[in-house]
Amino acid sequence: MEWSSERLRVHSKYPFRIARPGGSVSGRNVDRVIVRCLHDGTIGMGEASPVPYYGETLDTVEHVVQQLNRDASLIGDDLYAVSEIVRRLVDRFDQHRAAVSAIDAALHDWIGQKLGIPVWRLLGLSMRNVPATSMSIGLDEPEVMVERVREASGFSALKIKVGTDRDEETLALIREAVPEAKLRLDVNEGWTPDEALDRIEALSRFSPEFIEQPIPAGHLDDLRRIHEQSPIPIYADEDVVCPEDILRLQGCVSGVNIKLVKCGGIREALRMIHLSRAADLKIMLGCMAETSLGIAAAVSISSLVDLVDLDGHLLLSDEPFGALTLDGDRVLCHDAPGFGLSVRPDL
Ligand SMILES: [Mg+2]
Repeated sequence: MEWSSERLRVHSKYPFRIARPGGSVSGRNVDRVIVRCLHDGTIGMGEASPVPYYGETLDTVEHVVQQLNRDASLIGDDLYAVSEIVRRLVDRFDQHRAAVSAIDAALHDWIGQKLGIPVWRLLGLSMRNVPATSMSIGLDEPEVMVERVREASGFSALKIKVGTDRDEETLALIREAVPEAKLRLDVNEGWTPDEALDRIEALSRFSPEFIEQPIPAGHLDDLRRIHEQSPIPIYADEDVVCPEDILRLQGCVSGVNIKLVKCGGIREALRMIHLSRAADLKIMLGCMAETSLGIAAAVSISSLVDLVDLDGHLLLSDEPFGALTLDGDRVLCHDAPGFGLSVRPDL
């Protein structure tokens, strides 16, 4: 068994800004790490989208992958025992969950190819009940954001980045352009706990479906108070990383944004989905700016959730893998082994 990693640079169609400092795609370059597992003549692939906010970089991902070749006990001798493998990896690399997510994906892709079935099928799921994805609109001048909204006319739900002094001006223009669209507002920690309720009140006239991460992560008492008093449902994103966060958030929000990159991949995301159901929290499945390889891992389990925000590959100008299709505004995996990559660049 041989593990390897390779950097891959792709490009976003547009600059993509959010309210949280350091959270934006600066320029158009999007750098990812593609992880490969070669075993028994088959290559499984996964993508890591490390986010410095969560303490990971391209270098730290590559370091974790190197450890797999140095310490064979981390993977063990049974590649099909993914749950056990991921438990070991999360114990050892708790702060490297984007790396673990890529390894988890490569294992699922490898198994799917060995069995000749798509990953979603080996998980006992289907593509029939996959919810429509929202399309994300990054922060920009109000006129530019409206232009992006018009380009996204095929999507019934829009994830609008907010958290600036021009939110009301922007949303008034957007509502005029798309009176029927579901508007999901993502503040990315952009408000203080003291101002959040006033801001929510001001934006409620645009009838948003929910408001995501209104205040900086780590202020659960404030989040609970805002959730209890807000006329609009509140969702957590930056506050929810791994399974342990779900129960802490019970009563503090209406829903959670689960991302494979944050939690460590498909196995950990499944644990979070089941915990969220038990805690009566709505579940959104989200992503970073990722190629269709990274997004396909999330789409494989998207029939289990309430809301889908898996548009990262659609925001790229040079998506290389072709692992997904768009059926109206639903992002679906192919009915092909593993993640069904139609292009496997010789990285
Ligand atoms: Mg978010």
